[in-house]
Amino acid sequence: MTTKSLHPETIALHGGSYRKDNSTNSVAVPIYQTTSYQFNNQQHASNLFSLKELGNIYTRIMNPTTAVLEERIAQLEGGLTALAVSSGQAASAFAIQNLCKAGDNIVSSTDLYGGTWNQFANTFKQMGIEVRFADPEEPNSFIKLSDEKTRAFYAETLPNPKLNIFPIEEVANLGRKIGIPLIVDNTAAPITCKPLKHGAAIVIHSLTKWIGGHGTSIGGIIVDGGNFDWTEFPDRQPLFNQPDPSYWGWILGKVVPEVLGANIAYAVRARFVILRDLGAALSPTNAFNFIQGLETLPLRFKKHQDNAEMVADYLKNKKIVKRVIHPKYQSNSLKKRAKKYLEHGSGPLVGFELDGGIEAGKVFIDSLELIYHVANIGDARTLAIHPASTTHSQLSEADQLRAGVTPGYIRLSVGIEHIKDIIADIDQAIQKVEKKG
Ligand code: PLP
Repeated sequence: MTTKSLHPETIALHGGSYRKDNSTNSVAVPIYQTTSYQFNNQQHASNLFSLKELGNIYTRIMNPTTAVLEERIAQLEGGLTALAVSSGQAASAFAIQNLCKAGDNIVSSTDLYGGTWNQFANTFKQMGIEVRFADPEEPNSFIKLSDEKTRAFYAETLPNPKLNIFPIEEVANLGRKIGIPLIVDNTAAPITCKPLKHGAAIVIHSLTKWIGGHGTSIGGIIVDGGNFDWTEFPDRQPLFNQPDPSYWGWILGKVVPEVLGANIAYAVRARFVILRDLGAALSPTNAFNFIQGLETLPLRFKKHQDNAEMVADYLKNKKIVKRVIHPKYQSNSLKKRAKKYLEHGSGPLVGFELDGGIEAGKVFIDSLELIYHVANIGDARTLAIHPASTTHSQLSEADQLRAGVTPGYIRLSVGIEHIKDIIADIDQAIQKVEKKG
C-alpha cells in the first residue's frame, strides 16, 4: 500500500502497491499487453501453480495493469482485494457462481438493473441456480425466502428507477447470523456509499459507468471485503468447506487463509476457479482506461451529484412535473436511509414524471439538443431515457409500475457539463412538451 489515507481523492491516485514501474520508473501505469509471463525457473512456476507464491501466470487470470486497478478499487471500498472482469454482467454472474452450484439459490432484492434481472430470472434459472426475489422494504423477507440451500443475498445500493437506498446493514446483519453473505452492486454510488462498512461481504461494480466515466470501455469488478467467515457455517457454503476437485481436494475456506495469511478465500476462488474456467477477463487496455477514469472519479462524482441535486431542485418547481425522484425529495424513512448510507452526496441520478404520460415522455426525449438519448448511465455527459417506451417496453403496464416506471417517467444520468446548460436543455424540452400538451 503506497498510501494509508482514507480519503478517496488520494486513494484514487495512490491506492495499492504501485508507485512506479520497476523496470522503467514510469509513473503512469503501463499497459502490460501480454498474454503470458516468463517463469524464473521450474520451482517458481510450480510455486505459482500451487498458490504457494502469488505471481503472474497468464493474463486470463491476472495482469499487472489490471492488478493496479484491482488494488485501488479494493482500497477505495475498504476491502482486502478485488478481481476485475470483462463487464458488470460478468461481475454479478461470477460473484454468485463463486458461491452457488446447480440446485442452490440466492435471495435478491426486486429492485435491480434490467440486465441483472434477466441474468437472475432467466439465465441462472436455466443453469439450475434459483433466484428468489424479496421486497427491499422488508428486510425480513430475505430470511423468509431463504432455506438451507441459500448461499447469498443480493442488492443494489441505489437502484434506478426508484432510487430507494437499500437497507444494507439490516439485511447484512440478518444474513450473517446464519452464514449468508450480502453482495451489493454499488455501481451507482461509488465514493458516497461504502457497503462493506455496513456489513456487506462483497461489493461489485460495473466499471463501465462512473468509474470509467467517459463511455469508452466495458468492465466489472468484484471486491472481497475480507470480513466474512466462510467456514463458520460449513453446510451453508459447501464450495468453501468441501474438497475442491481442481485444487488437490483443498478445503479453500481453510487452506487459503493458512497459505496466504489473509481472509481472501472468496476472491482467490473467484480468480483461480471461476475466472480461470469461465474466462471473462478484462483486457489490459481497458484496465488502463479504468485507471484513468478512477484518478478523477472523486472530483467528477462530486460534480455529478451537485448537478443532479440542482436538476432535481429545478424540476421540483415545474408544474408539468408530477413527481421528482431523487433521494433529497424522498419521504421520511427513505430520506433517513439515504442520509445514513450516502455519506458524500445523494447520487448522480434523477427521475421525474411528466404530466401527459407516454406521449409527453416521447416529446421530451425528441426535443433534447445537448443531452444524449442513450441506454446508459455514468458517462461524463448528461444522458436521458424514457423507460416506458424503451428499456421497460416489453413489460406489462403492471410490471412497469412495480419496477417504478410510470408512463411519463424520464431517467436522467446527470453529467458534468455546466449546470446552466443542462437545465437550459431540459427547460426548452419541457416547454415543447407544454406546447404540445
Ligand atoms: N449493474 C448496474 C447497476 C448497471 O446499471 C449495469 C449496466 O447498466 C450493470 C450492472 C451491468 O454492467 P455492464 O454493462 O458493464 O455489463
